[in-house]
Order: sequence, then structure tokens, then C-alpha cells
Amino acid sequence: MAKDMTRAAKTKSAGAKGDADASVILADIVDRARSAFEERNLRFTQLREQVFAEIAATRGSIGAYEILERLSDKGTRLAPISVYRSIDALIEAGVIHRLESKNSYFACRRHEHGRKGRPIFMSCEQCGGVVEVPAQPIFDQVAELATSVDFTPKVKFMEVSGTCADCRDKAKKD
Ligand SMILES: [Zn+2]
Ligand SMILES: [Zn+2]
Repeated sequence: MAKDMTRAAKTKSAGAKGDADASVILADIVDRARSAFEERNLRFTQLREQVFAEIAATRGSIGAYEILERLSDKGTRLAPISVYRSIDALIEAGVIHRLESKNSYFACRRHEHGRKGRPIFMSCEQCGGVVEVPAQPIFDQVAELATSVDFTPKVKFMEVSGTCADCRDKAKKD
């Protein structure tokens, strides 16, 4: 997968099918993010869209300073605070999530959090890929345990780090 799909898609020589597919998929994800903002009556500003596109084009997750650098490579120079504000808005709208362990962000690929409940993030230590697995019963259990010790939990998401199937198979071959 192209690490930077937006850039690949913008390059004139990007005639390869993979790049074309990637840019279609990215446009699709950006459209869904726009709808998510509209549903919540929030503004999907140009900056929010740019920041979101960088996050969505990343395999795995990306930190705020890397987003800043990539945007600056494309000619958009910003103060870190502007990027952080966009990130906050994107999190608020539910279109990206934060990996606390890495202080980085990734685009939400699921759209049924409301129905299937909160997810656990399975994050690969090798390639950085993240899979979201609905796990509401686990969150319910945490809430129950917290109540049993009269504690008010603030947990919204949980992370599990490890190795994804691709990286595990690759390791076997080497
Ligand atoms: Zn999600
Ligand atoms: Zn992996």
C-alpha cells in the first residue's frame, strides 16, 4: 500500500491501478467523514478535511507533527495549534480515534459504533496497523467492576498491542 495515497493520487504519473483505487477509496472515506460532520451540524472546514485526508491515507496511525510536516511539504504551513484543533474536531465527530500508547491518530473504518458498541483497538507493533473490534460487553464489565469498588471510570476505548496476521505470516517466511 502506498504510504501517502493522497500524494500518489496527485502525481501525474500515477496511472497504476493501485494508486487509482487508493485515491477512490480515500475520496470515499473523506466523503463519509463529511457526512459525519453534517449529521452533527459541525463544519468540515478545508483544514479539517486536509488533516483528515492525511490521517486516512496513513496505514496505521500518524502523530500530529508528522501531519504538520506532510501538509507543509504540500505547501500548507500551519501552527501546531491549528492542527491540534482540527484533530480535536475530528475526534469529536468520531471520524478518527487516538491511540494513547503512541499519541497518534487513525481514521475510523467502522460506522456502527452506535449500534455495536465501543471497540477495542488491536494495534500491530510491527506495521502500526489498527483493527477495531466491537467489544461492548468488556466495557460493560469494566463499568460493573468500577461500580463494585465505587469508582467512576472514564474509559472510552481500550487498546491491545500485538502482531497482525500479515506481520506474523511475514515473520514465518523470513
Ligand atoms: Zn472507530
Ligand atoms: Zn502488522
